[in-house]
Amino acid sequence: MNPASPYRGRLAPSPTGYLHLGHARTFWRAQERARARGGTLILRNEDLDAVRFKLEFVGAMLEDLHWFGFAWSEGPDVGGEYGPYNQSERLGIYRAALEKLRAGNFVYPCTCSRKDIQTAVTAPHAADDEVIYPGTCRPECDPWPVASDARLEWTGMSAQLNSSSQVEVEQARSHQEPRSSRREEAPSPSAESSQSLLTSAATMQGTKTRILRATSARHSPRPASWRFRVPDGEVISFTDGNFGRQNFVAGGDFGDFVVWRGDDVPAYQLACVVDDAAMRITEVVRGADLLVSTARQLLLYRALELAAPDFCHCELLRDQAGQRLAKRHDALSLRQLRAQGAAPADLRASWAYPQAQA
Ligand SMILES: [Zn+2]
Repeated sequence: MNPASPYRGRLAPSPTGYLHLGHARTFWRAQERARARGGTLILRNEDLDAVRFKLEFVGAMLEDLHWFGFAWSEGPDVGGEYGPYNQSERLGIYRAALEKLRAGNFVYPCTCSRKDIQTAVTAPHAADDEVIYPGTCRPECDPWPVASDARLEWTGMSAQLNSSSQVEVEQARSHQEPRSSRREEAPSPSAESSQSLLTSAATMQGTKTRILRATSARHSPRPASWRFRVPDGEVISFTDGNFGRQNFVAGGDFGDFVVWRGDDVPAYQLACVVDDAAMRITEVVRGADLLVSTARQLLLYRALELAAPDFCHCELLRDQAGQRLAKRHDALSLRQLRAQGAAPADLRASWAYPQAQA
């Protein structure tokens, strides 16, 4: 990150339940680091998970954060230069990024169910316990390295690409490739990466249409997700602001991961990268459970030709049994603690991390 850039940090809660003390501790560290550098703190509402998302949690989330002592200068409730700050309002931006990944052949459609993947040969687990994708739908073409002339400009790109993207995603959703012909039917290696995104999109669309014609008579459609192909064997390294040097092997510590879900929603990895870049975040402070995801995301930054921020991962707060806190730990939700008369300053004083490092 350019040291001349003013520090911009973010809080990125997801309104799928009440925030608990573990979230608060990580967020507090994010706020402290922004304050220590005279930076800007933004709030991003990660509300893409339509199934678990509940409107009541958004209001509660803002209320709980304010009560605890958080203050942000950009966010869904206060606006700002890099909004909208609700992910549900940014779908066009994510679609444009997916188009860029498709144009560079970094992603491929995958119709495997969760069960397909879990029952596939041995199914090794990634460092963060995700099942490593066995490669069932992976085409043989190798997109690495790709020098793409196509640059993604966030401003206005969504409007420009939206309509064609929607057609394509619709087609991707209804397409189903037979196992026997997957290799042949998969999108071919591309010389398209230097063409404009729109031209590439049109070409890909033609490919999809042919696949549909070839298979629709024989298979009931399962919506396809889009999976990012990782460069097997490459070591992804970064220096974490808290844990120091980190190395993860693509294809060993983590495998091909979903960037766009079968239910037509961008996956966490893609939305997070696109937003952190578009919102000019200079340092991402988050929980240590996302260390491996940082390796995944660095690959996305590279494929999308975006500058990656710095990263600082925090130790996870654990309960007395050593389990990491989850939203089911109601007793440690900020809501409950507040109802019981707890004071945020007392709660902070009980945390083990050294304040001086913040
Ligand atoms: Zn698959």
